[in-house]
Order: sequence, then C-alpha cells, then structure tokens
Amino acid sequence: MSEKYDLIALGGGPGGLTAAELAAVKKKRVLLIEKEGWGGTCTNRGCIPTKALLSCSKYFADLKKLKRMGINITDASVDFSAMKKHQQQIVKVSALGAQKVLAEAGVEIKQGIGEIISPQEVRFIDPSGKSETFSAQNIIIAWGSVPQVLPGINLSERVLTSDGILNLNSLPSSIIIVGGSVIGVEFATFFAELGAKVTIVEILDRIIPLEDQECADLLKQELVRLGVAINTSTKLESLKDTGSSVVMLAQEDGKQLEISADYALLCTGRKPLLNTEELDKLGIEYTKAGIKIDRNMMTSVAGIYAVGDVTGGMMLAHRAMQQAKLAAGYICGDNDFTYNENFIPSVVYSHPQIARVGYTQKRAEEDGLVVEIIKSQYSANIIARAELMGQGFVKAIFHQDKLIDATIVGEDAADLIAPLALAISSAMTKKQFKSWVLPHPTLSEIFAPLIG
Ligand SMILES: Cc1cc2nc3c(=O)[nH]c(=O)nc-3n(C[C@H](O)[C@H](O)[C@H](O)COP(=O)(O)OP(=O)(O)OC[C@H]3O[C@@H](n4cnc5c(N)ncnc54)[C@H](O)[C@@H]3O)c2cc1C
Repeated sequence: MSEKYDLIALGGGPGGLTAAELAAVKKKRVLLIEKEGWGGTCTNRGCIPTKALLSCSKYFADLKKLKRMGINITDASVDFSAMKKHQQQIVKVSALGAQKVLAEAGVEIKQGIGEIISPQEVRFIDPSGKSETFSAQNIIIAWGSVPQVLPGINLSERVLTSDGILNLNSLPSSIIIVGGSVIGVEFATFFAELGAKVTIVEILDRIIPLEDQECADLLKQELVRLGVAINTSTKLESLKDTGSSVVMLAQEDGKQLEISADYALLCTGRKPLLNTEELDKLGIEYTKAGIKIDRNMMTSVAGIYAVGDVTGGMMLAHRAMQQAKLAAGYICGDNDFTYNENFIPSVVYSHPQIARVGYTQKRAEEDGLVVEIIKSQYSANIIARAELMGQGFVKAIFHQDKLIDATIVGEDAADLIAPLALAISSAMTKKQFKSWVLPHPTLSEIFAPLIG
C-alpha cells in the first residue's frame, strides 16, 4: 500500500517550499518533491545568484565615489572567477538553508520528478527511473517558470538566457541584451559596472515598461552614464553565433542595425512551466498564461492547488510565497493569510533600484481617481548626501486619505519599500502616518513629507 500524505507539493522553489513548511509546522504529513535544485529558480538561477553578483559590481562601481570621501584606491581590479565563487557560495548557503528549514519543520523530501496521476495520487520517479506512488489528501503544483525564447532564435554557446549566462566563467568584453525589462536591466547594470560594453535592445519605446515613467527615465540616465547603449523601439531580427562572437541584426526606426558582441543574452520574459499532458488528463484548466486558480489557490480540480510562477501574473518569489501561505493555510484550516496583487511589492535591482507597491499611478489615472501625490527627493536627505547616493525619489499616492501606491527609485529602494507595503496592506490613513517616528539621521527620513 502506498504511503499517505496530507499534502504533496511538487516543486522546491519558493512556492512549494513555503507551502510544505507551513503545512508541516501545522502538523500535517507533508512530502515535497523537487526535480533539480532546492530553492528552485530563485535560489539556483534567479534572485539569489543575481543579487550576489550585483553586490560585487556595486562595490566595484562605488570605489569611484571613495576618492571624494578621501579614500584613495590605486589598483582596484575585477577577479571574475572570485566573483563567481562568491555567487556559488551564496547559492549553496541558500539551498542548504532551504533544506534545513524543511528538516526542522518535519517535511519529507524527495529528489526526482513528481507526476500527478489522479487528484489523490502522485507518482515519484527518482533520477534512476525507479517509481513509487503516494497518496495525498491535497496536492500543490509549484512547477515554476522557464525563460521565454523568441521564435526563430536559437540558443547556443554565445546566445544565452539568464540560466546560461549565470554559468559564464569569464567576463565578456561586450554583450547584447535583448529585452530592457527587469532581468535585462539587472544584467546590464552588472556587466556595465564591471566595464563590459553593454547594448540593450528593446522593442518598446522605453525600458522597464511596467514601472513609473519618471523612475525608468532616471534609471535610463544612470545606465547611459555607465556607458550602456540603449536602443528602444528596436526589433530584433536575428542573432548569429559565429563561433567567436554574436552578430545581431535589428530594425530601429526603419533602419537596419548590425551589432557584434561576445555574447547575447535573451531577457524576453518567462513563461509558466505547464506540463500540459498531465493537466489535460486531470482536467485542470489553464491558459498559456498559467494555471487558473480561485481565491484559495485551488485549481478547477478540488484538492489540487497551484501557486507561484506556474499561475502566471507577477513572477516574483515573495508572491509565490504568499500564495503558498494562503493555499497551505487554507488546507490546514487557517484562513488568516490574505492575498492581494496590490500588496505585492516589486523591485528592479539595478543601480539605482526601483521599488513599487500598490495600485500604480497609471491605473489610478485610468480609473479617474482623485489622488494626492507626495514626492520626496534623495537630494534633500542628509544620509543620502553623506553616502553620495546620487539621485532618487519617493513618490507616494494617496486616495481618499489612504496610501494606495508608492514608488521609490534610488539606493536601497528595495528595503525602503517594505514599510510602505505594510502601510498599503493595512490601508493606513494620513492621520495614522502622523504617529510614525523616523530615526535620525537615516535614509528613512525620506518619508518625512508623507508624515507631514
Ligand atoms: C534572473 C532572475 C532573477 C530573478 N530575481 C528575482 C528577484 O530578485 N526577486 C523575486 O522576487 N523574484 C525574482 N525572480 C523570479 C523568481 O525566481 C520566481 O518568481 C520564483 O522562483 C518563483 O517561485 P516558484 O516556486 O513559483 O517556482 P520556481 O522557483 O521556478 O521553482 C519551481 C521548481 O519546481 C521544480 N519542478 C518543476 N516541475 C517539477 C516536477 N514535475 N516535479 C518536481 N519538481 C518540479 C523545478 O525544478 C523548480 O525547482 C528572478 C528570476 C530570474 C530568472
């Protein structure tokens, strides 16, 4: 007879891990199956390795500021292989950390492929091909997502996605980045800060199209200052790997553009990993944008849930985790977790960073909301000045006295957005802001104009 679980989660990324941990802490018998690396895309090929690398390039770029602070460094240079070791070490720490959390919570884990064969049964296939079937009261699908490659473009040794670029062992002297959205500008920042010649090619008329225009303009200015060539309204036609370089052909405002570089990096979006045959057999509804879920993250088949990137929408680790908490909470009878897309902060980890949470100014304008916008500049903050943080600002949007949206562009924006995410999710009024006391002197005093 097969082993019986209260929950089987498929996929050991932020979604599957969080759901498994929470259910196990609540005394459910849980099995988590992961086919590749613990921590999923986030730990192995996403959030963590990229941020480890961006920390390196930021320190290197910031060395230029030190002279103004009276610190002279004469022969700073980049040791790319040491940077890669740092990246690998941080990934290892993150993956081991994930396994430790699972062990402490009492989650049983298996490395291999999980296949749903009925709403109560999962077949586990280990790397040697041996299979075993387990029964489950509930199943959570957390298969994640994969890079999207444009039709007609072939991946090769020099034409890579974000997965492949993270395995490079030497710093390219030039790189073409196709796609000027979040992942594209993060890599552009990293390579340009280390001195590579970076060209961004973006089909739309601006980079970071989903974020505030003013923030995107400031980021563009900083990238150009770093030497990044940004070609917007430019449509990629072909990428040819010659064996020693990549030749790109594109159309820019009706003119043909030809650029050569050591590598090309495709950052043209991600798509949910949909095992369509399995979904069809089970009758689980989906579109190419993702698996359809209800407000409790349940799919169209009772007892089977889906969380994270596989559900489409904002593909972010913390969104996957919140969806997972809600699904696992619901399974365990704890309905206190809430999920609202407007409460999910998003961050572009370029330098400067862009962080945002809320309704968006664009939607507020489209919906005809009467809003009050309060702006606060980094240049008016003494710590930002002392630390030579450069330009940046906070833009807070209030509607009917409540904060509905906040955008920050500037250094440490990713951390600064956290209290504003709490303020938005708790529908804080301007009056409630008045009891918020900010430590002095800190960058957080940038929020002083919101308090009044
Ligand atoms: C370069 C890059 C940078 C990013 N940076 C950030 C960032 O800074 N912040 C942020 O919030 N997000 C970031 N993301 C996005 C983030 O990584 C994802 O949103 C997040 O990992 C989604 O979590 P998930 O659990 O849904 O899926 P994943 O993390 O993709 O995990 C899914 C897991 O399921 C496994 N799996 C799939 N099918 C099966 C199966 N049948 N059986 C067993 N296992 C299976 C896969 O091997 C995978 O490990 C980044 C992504 C990339 C590519």
